[in-house]
Parts: sequence; C-alpha cells; structure tokens
Amino acid sequence: MSATTAVQTDQPLPLVRFITRVYAQLVLAAFALVPSYLIAYLHLFQNPTLKFENHPFHEFAIAAATLEALFVTYVAWQCYRSSGEPLLRWMTLAFLGFVLIYALHGAFTGLAHDNIWLFLLYGPASRLTMSILLLVGLLSYHRPPDPADRRAGARYWLSWAAIFLVVDVLVALLAHSTVAGIVLLRFTEATALILSTLNVAILMLSRPRSPLMLVYGISITSFALSSVAFLLGRPWNHMWWLAHVIFASGFFLLSYGVAYAFLTTRSFATIYSREELNARLAHAMARTESALQELQRTNRKLEHLAATDPLTGAANRRHFIERLEAEVARAKSDGAPFSLLALDLDNFKWVNDAYGHQVGDTVLQGFVQACLDAIRPYDGVARVGGEEFMVLLTRTSLDAALAVGERIRAAIASTTFAGEVGRKVSITVSIGISQFGTDGSTIDALLRAADQRLYHAKRQGRNRVAAV
Ligand code: GH3
Ligand code: MG
Ligand code: MG
Repeated sequence: MSATTAVQTDQPLPLVRFITRVYAQLVLAAFALVPSYLIAYLHLFQNPTLKFENHPFHEFAIAAATLEALFVTYVAWQCYRSSGEPLLRWMTLAFLGFVLIYALHGAFTGLAHDNIWLFLLYGPASRLTMSILLLVGLLSYHRPPDPADRRAGARYWLSWAAIFLVVDVLVALLAHSTVAGIVLLRFTEATALILSTLNVAILMLSRPRSPLMLVYGISITSFALSSVAFLLGRPWNHMWWLAHVIFASGFFLLSYGVAYAFLTTRSFATIYSREELNARLAHAMARTESALQELQRTNRKLEHLAATDPLTGAANRRHFIERLEAEVARAKSDGAPFSLLALDLDNFKWVNDAYGHQVGDTVLQGFVQACLDAIRPYDGVARVGGEEFMVLLTRTSLDAALAVGERIRAAIASTTFAGEVGRKVSITVSIGISQFGTDGSTIDALLRAADQRLYHAKRQGRNRVAAV
C-alpha cells in the first residue's frame, strides 16, 4: 500500500509540471527582453544630449566586431558544408553581408563630420541586410539539406559577396544623394526592426524543438531591440552606444549557437533537447529489447529445427550424438551407467508397399508417440535413420533397460495405427540394447553393440528385445 501512495520524486505532479513549464517560458521571455529594460531605463532617466564621441574607440569596436563576424561566417560556412542545412546557408550569408557592409560603418568613422550619412547609413543597412537573410533562413528551416555539389561551389558565395558590395556602393550613393537624412536612416532601421520582429513571431508560432533555435530566437530578439535603441538614439549618445551593445549581445549569442552546432551536429535543426534525447533513447532501447527478444525466439526456433526430425518431431541423429557425448562424460564422472536402445521397425518396407508411403509416415509418427508414452520424459527418442530409432536411458542399467525395451516392444505390438479409412495398421519393432561400461565406454562401441543385438533380434524372428 505504501508503495502506491508514496510520493514519486521522479514523477512530479501534473500541476507542478505545468506551472514549472509556464514559469520556464515566462523567464525565458523575460530574459530575452532584458535589453528592453535597459532601453526604457536609459530613455526615461538619461539626458539624451549626453554624448560619448570617441572615434578610435568606435573604430576599434567595429574592427573587433567585423573580425569576429568574419570568423563566425567561416564557422557557419563549415557547418553548412557539412550539414547542407538551408538555414545555415542563409545564416552564413547574413554574417558575410554583415561583415562586408558593417565594416564600412567603422571605416567611415573619421568622416562622421564630413558626411554623417555615409558614416551612419552602413549601420542600419547591415542590420537590414542581416534581418532579411535571417528571415529567409527561418522560412527555409524545414527544407531538406542542399545536395553536396551545391554546397561545394564557390560561385554562389562570390555572387552574394558581389551583391553585398553593390549594397555598399548603393549606400554610398544614397549618402551623397538628396534622400540622405534622418528619414532614410530611420526607415532602414524600422524595416530591419519589423523583419526581425516578424522572424521572432514566426519562430514562436512554429515552435521548433531544437534548443539551438531557442538561441536563434533570443538572438533575433536582441537584434530587434537593438533596432529599437538605434531608432531612439542619436549618434554618439548613450542610447546609441547601448544599441551597439544590444546588437553585439545578440551577435555573441547567435555565434555561440553556430559554434555549438559546429562542435556537434553542424546543424541547427538536428540538435535535440535532453528531454527529447531521453525519449528517443528510451524508444531506441525498447526497440532493441524487442528485437533482441525476437532474435532469441528465432534462435530457439532454429535450434529446435536443427535438432529435430521434421516428420516425427523426434531428436535427429546429430542432436542424439551430442546428448550421447554429454551422457558419456556424465557417466565417466559419476560412474552411474546408462543404456542405449536401438530400434528398427519390422518389415516396414511391407507397410509402405501395402498401405502407401503416406500411411508409412503416419505410422512413423505414431511409433514415436507410443515410444514417448512408454519411457520417462527425459529419456528422449531419436530418429537416426528411415525407420531406425534410438532411445537413451540415462542412469539405467542393462536389466532396467531390458524392461523398458520390453515395455516399448509390447506397446507397439498392441497398438494399431490409423491407416486408410477403416483400415488399421499393426507393426512390431525389434530392439537391441547396450550398456555403458560393460559394452565399452566409447560411443562407437556402444552403438555397435546395440546394432549387433538388434540384428540378433531380427534373426531370432523380429518383435523381440535382445540384450546379449
Ligand atoms: P526389417 O524388418 O528387416 O527391418 O525390414 P524392413 O522392411 O523394415 O527393412 P528395410 O531396411 O529393407 O526397409 C526399410 C523401409 O523403410 C524402406 C523405406 O521405404 C522405408 N522408409 C524409410 N524412411 C521412410 C520414411 O520416411 N517414410 C516412409 N513411409 N517409409 C520410410
Ligand atoms: Mg532398417
Ligand atoms: Mg526395418
């Protein structure tokens, strides 16, 4: 009773489980939104005119980010080459695009006072490019892997690099045109924000099971929130710097995901949570267990088939010799003798001739059954020839064996076997007996002695048992 009412520590109550799951989802969302608290804090309590305009620091930070992004591009590309996952192809492109466009945001820091738009526009342009590519990447999440030949080509990547360079030129042209201004800057940033938000929304609705997609989702949330901060910020003020930090944190996290994929399955989709792995493992183990049982059943069946005569179900010669070998070893070690009966149906050829081969078969089956009824359960009958059989009487001396042989003989002689409709078939059997020890201690000697006595019984007129 106590076993059933005891609290199971490994199986939590469904309600506790439900609440814990909801809590986990909520704190995850709360964590992903941490940048928004910082944005709100800065927006509400900080004077937006305060600035930190430090060009070398900005150049250094952008150079570091570009180098890091270059490395992450390489690692993502390696993952893609290995798994062919379309999401990783788009992610590689997103990183490459970021490197080739964002680098100019750093490079033109010194020109901030000559052409502020040339300096500023590359920021939102790189984030917009990334958000487009990452959104397309998410939409390709369930697509099958790209074929190997497609992964290997360099042309694809070079074409995209060319597109990114065209974007660079376009941004430069726009920065020098009349449309350059705060509206264009904010429009670009807002579009990046919308696409990143859309990305997160789709992700939340589709709920992919891979934990790396969780990393992906939090990273994209950071990208979206960095766009919010950039929209609220002014060049060089604290909100603007915070925007950089938020974007960098998203980038760090996403590149962690890429590195993790690289070190494991090289894929974002085929990484499984521990929960799912456990379930898969349990399933696989259950399948292995049932396959093993099936194999054992088959083995037993095969063993039985290999050891028995298909017509009568008696042991076959091979199996009988094996048993005999074991019995010889047993008798040698403990000294208790055993006996052998060699049985041969009398005039069986005549049965076949008179009733047909099929009736002969039925008689052979009936004969084995009658023998089994006359002996102990562990003294098996073996079919060693067409109508020749042997019985091993374990721990039995010649005298006792003689009695068993006589019992079998009498039983067969008094049994009628079913023949054709209405006809009964009667047969007799002749039996020769040998005993371990007195007739030798090798299998050959024992078989020979039993055979000789069998033929002796035949010569004496059949339907008899001979022990000498
Ligand atoms: P004996 O008393 O001298 O042993 O006479 P016998 O006719 O029994 O001896 P023999 O060895 O001449 O004939 C054995 C017969 O057993 C010949 C064969 O047709 C028959 N036989 C052997 N195997 C089978 C079998 O699987 N089915 C049937 N129906 N008959 C078989
Ligand atoms: Mg024979
Ligand atoms: Mg015979």
